[in-house]
Amino acid sequence: MNKKADVLVIGGGVIGTSIAYYLAKQKKKVILVERYDHAAGASGSCDQMIIMQSKNPGVHLQYALASAEMYKTLSQELDYDIGYHKEGGMILIETSEEMEVMEDFVARQKEIGLQVEILTRKEAAKHQRGLAEHLVGATYSPQDAHIDPMKLNLGFAYAAKKLGVEILLNTEVTGIIQQGNKVTGVETNQGTILAPLVINAAGAWAPLIGQMVGLELPIKPRRGQIAVSEPVAPYVKGDVLSARYIVAKYNPDILEKSDDRAVQLGVGLALSQTEKGNILIGATREFVGYDLGNTREGIKEVLKNATRLVPGLKKMNFIRVMSGVRPYTPDGLPLVGFVKGLEGFFMAAGHEGDGLALAPVTGKMVADIIEEGKTFMDVSAIDPNRFNL
Ligand SMILES: Cc1cc2nc3c(=O)[nH]c(=O)nc-3n(C[C@H](O)[C@H](O)[C@H](O)COP(=O)(O)OP(=O)(O)OC[C@H]3O[C@@H](n4cnc5c(N)ncnc54)[C@H](O)[C@@H]3O)c2cc1C
Repeated sequence: MNKKADVLVIGGGVIGTSIAYYLAKQKKKVILVERYDHAAGASGSCDQMIIMQSKNPGVHLQYALASAEMYKTLSQELDYDIGYHKEGGMILIETSEEMEVMEDFVARQKEIGLQVEILTRKEAAKHQRGLAEHLVGATYSPQDAHIDPMKLNLGFAYAAKKLGVEILLNTEVTGIIQQGNKVTGVETNQGTILAPLVINAAGAWAPLIGQMVGLELPIKPRRGQIAVSEPVAPYVKGDVLSARYIVAKYNPDILEKSDDRAVQLGVGLALSQTEKGNILIGATREFVGYDLGNTREGIKEVLKNATRLVPGLKKMNFIRVMSGVRPYTPDGLPLVGFVKGLEGFFMAAGHEGDGLALAPVTGKMVADIIEEGKTFMDVSAIDPNRFNL
């Protein structure tokens, strides 16, 4: 195989396919290569939340809000039902210390424009049944939503294909072709593809692609384990997180210092119900390299935590487990943009636990930057060169 394109995208997850779709709308000749199949990475082994409340108040939340706007009409735009439902979401609060942190978080989120409020336990119980008595309250936002991640991934892929994107599955990038400090294409296990622009959208595997061009990317795989229930009648309303989820997400150092095993494993509640009725119960946040297994201990702690916060779940049967690796970055923001000193190499990875929420806006911003050299939002906070690559 010897092929040529204007742009070569590495990775067929939600980020790579979103980018391919928005670039094709700009009339670029795009080839996307994926070593296995769509949703083979984190995009196929995750929860389903398009949640605003978990985002750090600041650019993180601003990008998520821009994406949330795009989600409202994305099924129509892609001509593919991505299972979008906007049912709001809550973050459960267990202690007065957590309440203090969340009050500050909520105040700052409101300043960015998120509709969010603090509820008493009694008010929270009106939104979600089965909650524990010891909760002191919850935050609530009507702007939280969810989608089906597999359908999102396929929706972007099919729409991209309709616009002429060539998608090569079972095609693994094995090397990057360079002339001096200029990237000119990739080597794959199926042959060579020449392109003056290569986009690294390989999620948690992006650092391995980076190594092919001598870059030490600060992205690390962070495993999340999830338990799945049998399908049941509607039980979980919207997205339900716990304040400990927020701590686990943004403060890995605190977790490592704790003696509590659940805390060490980064367990924080992430609860939602699929269209078919299965309840997704997450999750751990662990640095165990590319180990994609599930552990008895991890799942036990996830379920213990969930039933402690929502005892009503005790009557459900759990039938399946899964795990995926989030692409973690030290500041919680992805790396999106051209890499200085390496012409033709563009980064679009590192979305940690927010890749679904940020997929549409990432694709749009990347396509704008490539086509016009600028986009509708300030992207300096996600510039990959902030890490002095
Ligand atoms: C347990 C868990 C729960 C989550 N819940 C949520 C949630 O509720 N909401 C949310 O917004 N986000 C959530 N996330 C995060 C979200 O899943 C990720 O941020 C997102 O899927 C990342 O997408 P991606 O396309 O960058 O990476 P991936 O989906 O991992 O795609 C990368 C692709 O690159 C391919 N690849 C790798 N190396 C090569 C190579 N050499 N050649 C060709 N292809 C290659 C891989 O096979 C893979 O398909 C969760 C993640 C986990 C693990």
